[in-house]
Amino acid sequence: MNAAYDVAIVGSGFSGSLLATILADRGRRVALIDRQKHPRFAVGESSTPLADAILRHLGEQYGRPDWVNLSAYGSWKDTMPAVSCGLKRGFSYYRHHRQQPYRDSQGHDSSLLVAASRSDEAGDTHWYRPDVDHYFHQQAIKAGVSDLTGWQISGLDTASPHQIGLHDVRHDHQQSITADWLIDASGPAAAVARLLDRRPLAQPIRTRTSSTWMHVKGLPAWSDWLCRHDIGCDDDPFDADAAAVHHVLDQGWIWCLRFDNGITSVGWTSPGETLHGSLRSTIDDYPSLNELFSGATRCTEIYQAESFQRRFDPVLGPRCLMTPTAAFTLDPLHSTGIAVGLAGVARLADLILNQGDQPSALDQYRRLIQTEFLWLDDFVGTAYSVMPDFSRFSAACQWFMLAAIACEEQIQRSGFDCHRCLYSADNTAMRDVMRGGNRDLRGPLMTAKVTELLRRSALPFNTAGLFDPDVANRFAYTATKS
Ligand SMILES: Cc1cc2nc3c(=O)[nH]c(=O)nc-3n(C[C@H](O)[C@H](O)[C@H](O)COP(=O)(O)OP(=O)(O)OC[C@H]3O[C@@H](n4cnc5c(N)ncnc54)[C@H](O)[C@@H]3O)c2cc1C
Repeated sequence: MNAAYDVAIVGSGFSGSLLATILADRGRRVALIDRQKHPRFAVGESSTPLADAILRHLGEQYGRPDWVNLSAYGSWKDTMPAVSCGLKRGFSYYRHHRQQPYRDSQGHDSSLLVAASRSDEAGDTHWYRPDVDHYFHQQAIKAGVSDLTGWQISGLDTASPHQIGLHDVRHDHQQSITADWLIDASGPAAAVARLLDRRPLAQPIRTRTSSTWMHVKGLPAWSDWLCRHDIGCDDDPFDADAAAVHHVLDQGWIWCLRFDNGITSVGWTSPGETLHGSLRSTIDDYPSLNELFSGATRCTEIYQAESFQRRFDPVLGPRCLMTPTAAFTLDPLHSTGIAVGLAGVARLADLILNQGDQPSALDQYRRLIQTEFLWLDDFVGTAYSVMPDFSRFSAACQWFMLAAIACEEQIQRSGFDCHRCLYSADNTAMRDVMRGGNRDLRGPLMTAKVTELLRRSALPFNTAGLFDPDVANRFAYTATKS
């Protein structure tokens, strides 16, 4: 068999499957290759207003109303209840101290809640990726995409068209296909780049962390735990558990993302080249978390990645490109991966359908991805460097949210433009201010002084009232999702 395709996509996560669907809907012959079959586990589950805005845009632009429905919790649950998700009303952060029960003050010195939507209906979602990616993959197949899941890319000749060798690992079969375009959508595996012997770019990366993660069942809600222990939640703008919950520790942080199917995604990320201990031993050091997790049972494997930050040049050849989520891996902090992945879908669809392989279009694709990576790395790396000081970390999170909200508002005003950078990375008015703020956060000034400096520098952009000392770390007005 030597089938000929217009586009071969390696990786059928949401990025690969959405791109495949768009191209097949427009008459392209598409092969979607994946070494795994769906449903399969994947990490990267917490969506954001920005991710949802891009998904909505893709649905509207490419005539896929189901994608529009999946861009908000209410319409998702109404129209696709069989595809599991969880409600995400915002971001919540709690600072725990080793061997001490969790405590907070009246002014919430140990916690931060930032709303991202005004109602559950309009809320963002945690994507239960086994279901979500399976659903997107099925849509791609229905659109006429050739299903090559269960096949791993094993050989590649980049002549035009690309000659692609595939290997069915379970049955030890081989086949080859040809394709004019080859897209590496294999996520952190960067399978095509590695097959071509490309190396990650050598430039330094500020963020250096390691992670371990899994799914658990039977984890009680953190907001219930707070109420049971009389730790006031009366002024919380949303249920603190219906959020990306960050338990900030002496070293690193634990995320909890609750799905509606009784499963919760849990992971621990700590700064450094290696993980010091397991998630279990980390939880054991924090009495309140120990109590919270006492009834939870693991329901997946334990996954782990150490020092996983890296970036490739996303242009592997004139018609051989990487999705942004294959070209770079940064970190779970700030939940940027789904938005970055969806923007990649929009850009690659535009390139393949409209622009072709003109050098200027490829250069622009490269520039957008590299600029976003460096920008996000500055925010994420800075947040880790100040994490042990919760007030400073809280300022670093709000500082990032300014950039995210400015981008969301820009999209609300003028629509999503795939030729612009995400997170305001190409906003000339903000760029130097934001970079300067990150430098101040990492610098020697006292935290109160830095926070005041940031508050003042933020004034021209701060439509959401961040850094307002009067609201005691409870930000209800950040919502750009009505
Ligand atoms: C620990 C961690 C936590 C994260 N948390 C978040 C979060 O909360 N929010 C967020 O927005 N982002 C998060 N991210 C980022 C997020 O995981 C990614 O952006 C997202 O998964 C990318 O999806 P994708 O469809 O591009 O690729 P993937 O979902 O990675 O899919 C790639 C596919 O390629 C296939 N593949 C790999 N190698 C081969 C091969 N050789 N041949 C054939 N197929 C192959 C794989 O089987 C897989 O199905 C996180 C990342 C990490 C590492």
